[in-house]
Amino acid sequence: MAMYVWFLIPLGLATWSGNSPVHVAVIWMLIGFGGNAVFYAMLSLGYNKRFTDHSLTIPQMWLAIIVTFYAQIYAGPLRGGYLLALILMFIFGCFKLRTKQMLWVSLSSSFIYAATIPLAAIVEGPAFNWVQSLILWFIYTTIMPMVSVVAGVVSRMRHDLAANRSQLQAALEEVTHLASHDELTGLSNRRWMMETLERERALAQRRDSGFCLCIVDLDHFKQVNDVHGHAAGDAVLQAFARISLKKLRGTDIMARHGGEEFLLFIPSDTVAAAEHCVQRIRETLAHTVFDGLPEDFRITMSGGLTHHQPGEPIASTLERADAALYQAKASGRNRIETA
Ligand code: GH3
Ligand code: MG
Ligand code: MG
Repeated sequence: MAMYVWFLIPLGLATWSGNSPVHVAVIWMLIGFGGNAVFYAMLSLGYNKRFTDHSLTIPQMWLAIIVTFYAQIYAGPLRGGYLLALILMFIFGCFKLRTKQMLWVSLSSSFIYAATIPLAAIVEGPAFNWVQSLILWFIYTTIMPMVSVVAGVVSRMRHDLAANRSQLQAALEEVTHLASHDELTGLSNRRWMMETLERERALAQRRDSGFCLCIVDLDHFKQVNDVHGHAAGDAVLQAFARISLKKLRGTDIMARHGGEEFLLFIPSDTVAAAEHCVQRIRETLAHTVFDGLPEDFRITMSGGLTHHQPGEPIASTLERADAALYQAKASGRNRIETA
């Protein structure tokens, strides 16, 4: 739009100095501004999505080409200057178009330009200089394809850059995910959990609210590996992660603490409410039949659950949970002990 407004200056000067009839400036404004208004409306209302090229670059280029060719019919010796505006149009094209499309636009526009030459001859009458006009046409016909090729190279560079950027973005997302998640189970990893717990500790202190931590350890897990193989052990760990995620609320967090040990964060003020949640996981796990393992194979878990005391370090809460877990193991496993 700014380009169209700017072009009003030379067009206005040409009209004011009598080098171009008034109707050219009027029609040029009507077509130029009207056409842009239509494009603007299409883009705002989403009609552009009906076309393969959502940016409507080629139609926008054609609008400029047609109004410029129309204006230059009446421009006399100023004709060449008007055509300069089209170079800008081809640079505009490089945002979206490939070299081939640009070449196609430049060559077909050169045919249309050729068709306007006899019209200019009629407008100018006997003063019309055919040789100069044909030389100008030749310049246009050879320079525009060159501009198209250069603009096409810029377009390809932009395209490659965008592709590189999205590859980098994907890699960054993967690395970020790996830094905070456990690869085998998809649960949060220990490092991320420790950072989160420090944050939750500060929040709990400020809000005077509490949370519970539970260390969960699968019972006799070594035997699973020894009897059924390491892959079966891995599958059990993955299944356990799935089972517990299903039983948790959105605000609870289950992380893999290491090996077959998991750490569960439950933002509950009472141990009783948290215990209810952990018991549900324990009961479900105890009844779970695993794909690829014998029908009668079952695995259980033990848990040590405790409430975080306001102000105490996370390490102290974890020590208490660990002691409770030890008790759960000592008293026969498949149980949750609270401390
Ligand atoms: P307890 O009931 O006392 O907890 O007995 P346990 O056998 O579960 O305990 P122990 O700590 O002796 O064994 C844990 C086993 O977990 C040992 C290790 O080989 C296995 N393990 C740790 N990480 C993985 C893993 O990523 N995949 C598999 N398959 N096994 C793992
Ligand atoms: Mg174990
Ligand atoms: Mg263990």
